[in-house]
Amino acid sequence: MQTEYREWDFDEWEKAWSISVGEVYTCSECRNMLIVSKGGTGSLDLKCCGKPMTLYRGCGDAA
Ligand SMILES: [Zn+2]
Repeated sequence: MQTEYREWDFDEWEKAWSISVGEVYTCSECRNMLIVSKGGTGSLDLKCCGKPMTLYRGCGDAA
């Protein structure tokens, strides 16, 4: 079996770099909130109520 080194594409880098301390993720079902307390690289796959949690943007104008 061949070991293949695959370069990351831009989307993967953007995703990895987007994991930073202080970001808040929410669950659209139960309003559970999760705050990232440690940054890092890799894919963040948060789930709650069987659905992926979404990044909460507190500085937006959404009510
Ligand atoms: Zn939930």
